[in-house]
Amino acid sequence: MMNRRQFVSRAALGAAVTRFPNLLGAKAVKYDLIVKGGRVIDPSRKLDAVRDVAIADGRIAAVASDISAEAAETIDAHDKLVVPGLIDIHTHAARVKGGPEMCLADGVTGLIDAGSQGADHIADPIAIAKSAPQPCRVLINIGRAGILPDGDTMDLNRADVAAAKAAIADNREMIAGVKARLSRDVAGMNDLEVLRRAQEVASSFHLPVMIHMGQTMSPLSKLFPLLKSGDVVTHMFAPPPNSIIDDSGHILPEVMAARKRGVRFDLGNGRSGHLRWDMADSILKAGFLPDTFSTDWTPEGRTAGVIDFPNVMSKFLMLGMPLDQVIACATVNASRAFPVFHNRGTLKPGAPADIAVLELREGSFEFVDNYTNNRTGKQRLFPSATVLGGKRVARG
Ligand SMILES: [Zn+2]
Repeated sequence: MMNRRQFVSRAALGAAVTRFPNLLGAKAVKYDLIVKGGRVIDPSRKLDAVRDVAIADGRIAAVASDISAEAAETIDAHDKLVVPGLIDIHTHAARVKGGPEMCLADGVTGLIDAGSQGADHIADPIAIAKSAPQPCRVLINIGRAGILPDGDTMDLNRADVAAAKAAIADNREMIAGVKARLSRDVAGMNDLEVLRRAQEVASSFHLPVMIHMGQTMSPLSKLFPLLKSGDVVTHMFAPPPNSIIDDSGHILPEVMAARKRGVRFDLGNGRSGHLRWDMADSILKAGFLPDTFSTDWTPEGRTAGVIDFPNVMSKFLMLGMPLDQVIACATVNASRAFPVFHNRGTLKPGAPADIAVLELREGSFEFVDNYTNNRTGKQRLFPSATVLGGKRVARG
């Protein structure tokens, strides 16, 4: 039994050890977390090498080989890839409670809900985005009733400029842009006018427009001149009518012109109408690479077709894109699309410590496009661990 004096002195020692860990000869805990021994691929710094990544106070503190200082926690990343946290710029994660958390477990540390709702119900996705663990913003659908089975803006009155402007003015922090879905089954003959109205709304707040292309009534030669620098074209691999490439394998001049003036081109994997392998083959062969990947994530896509962001990325490994470019499309490139991500998508010391630990497995993996065509790839990325703001995310 300890007597009272011993107890008091032990308690005092305990407090001293907490404050001055060297008193007992233990090494000082210098870092909160070290991700050890992984293959670090950080396209923002053109780095591809085995490194340790050390984290302190929620930020990347050091990226170096064999960091020997003590850390409160270690993630063993041997035989794994360590990349900046993934940024998914086209999801519908804010349509469902718990959506952002599910994406986080897949390595997604930043995301955009792209037009699930318009002015009438914008409060719903905003509430979910606000409670998301990772940075999450929404694009407002120019159709005031949001996504409708019979077409968001088939009735042109729903493309309500005043309503969208009022919604943005009320939620300036959370609305990162305007979404215009332009396919014939969404906007019909109204596509051009819907895009004009989306631009009228967006430009008064200096925000980008994201268009959903593919199977539009109007040709791209009419639609694309309305796009400004910083706007995003999603579903870039959508098959005809009105794809970005002609029958002889040339990228359309209006597409080249749009890229030249700073319009971004995004995958938007989704489930139907957006991705067909032969289109991806010819567009990549023409040298027109995506700027960003995105999943167009929904709870339904999670079980078939999309699965998770690493699976979507793996499709482009199969299609022949080099690994570092695949990572770039999901990290540093995506970080440039929206200001909320501007200091992310990188493992640069000082940046917020958002990290995806991925496993690159070799084997035989089936991938499906949006037209039930299967292809077999030899590699597949799997989520292994996620770090958000310097803290390891508990596995769900
Ligand atoms: Zn979508």
